Amino acid sequence: MQRVNAEPVGQVANRSPFWARRLAESALDEIGQKVLAGGRLSFEDGVRLYRCTDLNAVGHLANVVRERLNGNRAYFVRNQHLNYTNVCCKQCRFCSFYSRETGPKPYTLTVNEVRGRLRRHAEQPLSEVHIVGGINLELPYAYYLDLIRAVKEERPDVHVKAFTMVEIDQIQQVSGKALEETLLELKSVGLGSLPGGGAEILSERLHELLHPAKLGPERWLEIARTAHRVGLKSTATMLYGHEETIEERVQHLVRLRGLQDETGGLQCLVPLSFHPANTALSAIPGPSGVDDLMNLAVPRLMLDNVPHIKSFWIMTSAPVSQLALWYGADDLDGTIQEYEVTRDPQKDTQQALTREQLLSLIREAGRQPVERDALYGVVERC
Ligand code: SF4
Repeated sequence: MQRVNAEPVGQVANRSPFWARRLAESALDEIGQKVLAGGRLSFEDGVRLYRCTDLNAVGHLANVVRERLNGNRAYFVRNQHLNYTNVCCKQCRFCSFYSRETGPKPYTLTVNEVRGRLRRHAEQPLSEVHIVGGINLELPYAYYLDLIRAVKEERPDVHVKAFTMVEIDQIQQVSGKALEETLLELKSVGLGSLPGGGAEILSERLHELLHPAKLGPERWLEIARTAHRVGLKSTATMLYGHEETIEERVQHLVRLRGLQDETGGLQCLVPLSFHPANTALSAIPGPSGVDDLMNLAVPRLMLDNVPHIKSFWIMTSAPVSQLALWYGADDLDGTIQEYEVTRDPQKDTQQALTREQLLSLIREAGRQPVERDALYGVVERC
């Protein structure tokens, strides 16, 4: 039975004396009232939510907002990821992807090799090709334009989501043009939207500590703002579980909320669970499943103006992503096909799910699967 038009589960649960008591016991009754009234949460509210030890109380409130915005739907997309180079000059301390003496061997795909990767999956229907890579100083401006042109030639109907704000920063430098002009030129050859990577946690302190060679928070926001202004939507990420404080996480969310008030260009937030293995921060234990759920629930509550929260199953595991659908997330991302960023090269594990596997995961979790396109248009209610 479809529950899309039914009274959202959260609205029923809101009125239950059980949840009223539970929220009061967790000192979340005031925040709960704001959430039920559709009010905006403050920085202090965000900190209080993160400090709450009752994950289920926070998750309950996040689910109220999740169902208010998206009902019982759980979105997924048929997509293919392409990571065109792991050569990167930025050396972020939390990154295991970039090539180095002790790490993965360097590679950069030629445009023809990119065509080959796409042809491997030519028989599979796709809505989106998702392209990100390292900052390889050898690549000229023409490479980026040709990459997008090649994808559009191979798969004319797919949406190309490509280049984080970090890559756009580099592409602008090699283009020698103004930021807006560079974005418009990329758009003219087929760029459809931008992935939101590189935001990490928008904090000057963490920028200095973890990725000083990469663009800082103000530049990330400037690029996102300009992209939205020229008609390119984007997502935003939040990398949690490393050196950040709770206050910095909340500040990150408040900054993104301010950007969204200004532009309306953010489609979703993608909380990314930090994977310490093979990074300069490998001594850190990394987030638990509870951390993963909390970092979906609190963003859902703070980002009242962002329509979707994505649980990226590759980073959290498929079972945690199933649970996430009751803790604020309404999107499981997609079929993926080829994702190198957190893949262990020693194990050669392909990270992919079929459409049928995604449907099962979502149905087992008690949600209604909806196949979406890259801009959250409905392809099919399943
Ligand atoms: Fe390079 Fe991105 Fe890794 Fe930083 S996170 S080292 S920019 S690939």
